[in-house]
Amino acid sequence: MAQDKTGKANPWGNDRLPPDAHRDTLAVREGLPPSQWGENSEGLFLTSSFVHPSAEVAARRFANEEEAFVYSRFSNPTVSMMEKRLAALEGTQACIGTSSGMSAVMLTMMGLLKAGDHVVCSRSVFGSTIKLIQGEFGKFGVQSTFVSQTDVDEWKRALQPNTKLLFAETPSNPLTEVCDMAALADIARGAGAWFAVDNCFCTPALQRPVEFGADLVIHSGTKYLDGQGRVLAGAVCGSSELVEERFVPVMRSAGMSLSPFNAWVVLKGLETLGIRMQAQSERALQLAQWLEEQPQVQRVYHPGLESHPQHALAMRQQSGCGGAVVSFIVKGEGADAARANAFATIDATRICSITANLGDTKTTITHPASTSHGRLTEVQRQAAGITQGMIRVAVGLEDLQDLKADLARGLARI
Ligand SMILES: *Cc1c(COP(=O)(O)O)cnc(C)c1O
Repeated sequence: MAQDKTGKANPWGNDRLPPDAHRDTLAVREGLPPSQWGENSEGLFLTSSFVHPSAEVAARRFANEEEAFVYSRFSNPTVSMMEKRLAALEGTQACIGTSSGMSAVMLTMMGLLKAGDHVVCSRSVFGSTIKLIQGEFGKFGVQSTFVSQTDVDEWKRALQPNTKLLFAETPSNPLTEVCDMAALADIARGAGAWFAVDNCFCTPALQRPVEFGADLVIHSGTKYLDGQGRVLAGAVCGSSELVEERFVPVMRSAGMSLSPFNAWVVLKGLETLGIRMQAQSERALQLAQWLEEQPQVQRVYHPGLESHPQHALAMRQQSGCGGAVVSFIVKGEGADAARANAFATIDATRICSITANLGDTKTTITHPASTSHGRLTEVQRQAAGITQGMIRVAVGLEDLQDLKADLARGLARI
């Protein structure tokens, strides 16, 4: 059966999907048509290259005169299916898969910027993102300024004539601070800059940054998109123009391509993303409310709590309960005691996995000050609000009573 890259020629094509199909339907159905075998579950195309019927056709395809799969560094049917599905969920025209979340940030930077350009970025983004923007891209002459997650005026003041990109991540890790996406999008537009949002913590199931004016949405597919902690993956979602003109050429030369196997795992993960995010955030909010009542707990961070400083903003920007990540600070006289109490709480768990990863159906627990933020100095950590008593829990799908009991066991030792 003849089939072009978009599958339009295939009679089983998902152009059968009603054009007004809703997101939950697209999460399960959007992709490419099946192969000639009519498989119901999406095919996994583990192939590095694709064959051509003749030298003549190969020449046309290499000259970009005819659209076809050529080589999996450029594109692959399984990867394309994942890209189409994620774009449908984010509400963007296009998406490009990458080998990891960090390579998605790298692709964004390489595609948009050149030496002498300037980036304004939240100080609360993922640590490796700060290192990449400031350190690695700094080496090639890209300038950067890091600003408050929540102080919109600081973003405005950081603008320079050469500012080309505003970069945010919301909610942040581990404090779940929320930035005002519409306000930042306005600032970017006024400055003639792009606005990119790392949507890792909420995913399109709970928050769609383009609805607030973001030009680009960045993902670590390693987290909730896969959802079961199996693979590394990443993606950049945006307009067809940006993806085709800015990112595809870099991908073809630089090769931070998403493996078809990993794309397939994420593709299948997207089918359950909506119900997982809903269920995990519900548990997270209930756990956060319970933690607020525990006498050994000094403070709890979760956007769904009314005590959260950006609770109203979070509820405007997100659907659902505020995401699945909860952080809290256990009491303790001084940093050493607080750290000992945090360690005791973590070590007393029997269900939670002690790992810095998140986005899994298995609940994970970590001590940010000595793991994800361990490379910062104590002064930098204090400034960031990440104290020695802080514990981060990324809530999975276990029974809530069991999770409460798991934490109560450790808290009782304090
Ligand atoms: C994990 C993470 C990344 C990096 O993703 P990898 O897939 O590990 O490269 C980027 N941003 C956020 C918010 C993350 O949590």
